[in-house]
Amino acid sequence: MTASQHRPAIGVLALQGDVAEHLRAIGEAGAQGIAVRRPDELDAVDGLIIPGGESTTMWKLTVIFELLDPLRKRLSSGLPVFGSCAGMIMLADRLLDSASGQETLGGINISVRRNAFGRQVDSFESDITLRGVPGPDFRAVFIRAPWVEEAGRGVEVLGSEPHTGRIVAVRQGPALATAFHPELTPDRRIHELFVDMVRERS
Ligand code: GLN
Repeated sequence: MTASQHRPAIGVLALQGDVAEHLRAIGEAGAQGIAVRRPDELDAVDGLIIPGGESTTMWKLTVIFELLDPLRKRLSSGLPVFGSCAGMIMLADRLLDSASGQETLGGINISVRRNAFGRQVDSFESDITLRGVPGPDFRAVFIRAPWVEEAGRGVEVLGSEPHTGRIVAVRQGPALATAFHPELTPDRRIHELFVDMVRERS
């Protein structure tokens, strides 16, 4: 095993959102976290996290920072990627309740509704049973969170929110997404799963 396979370099898209929390979580999960703002920084990573935040702003900054094409290229060539909350929105192939002019990077064959839980309650916690994450249920923090309204072909549903039955965690090949924020709680099992996905690819 090479050094990079052992402790892979995982970028966190650092345009907007809770970048610092993901960088810390990645370090605790056994990889090296690197802030990514430029195409050359994107080229250097073995995997990428798109953080929680505000997807409309993140989308605009992605275009302004000229990261749209480089990101789409790397994602379509199989770069392992993990999006939490706004990051899940960015990875959705189809977006419901988007802001005007808002698009997504795409990559996961899902329809995601923005602010779906947020209309009912701005912020809440819930225990989620997650496929592929051994151990007890995952204590998940939702903040103006989206849900997956429909998961298409090739998408593995990893977990649903128990009170609403809505899908909140999915995987399609090297792409992982959660509607909640595992970076904000101490449980590192989801970041560890992602680090394993990156190790498998690199
Ligand atoms: N509602 C936000 C959006 O549309 C996502 C919220 C979050 O990432 N906590 O981007």
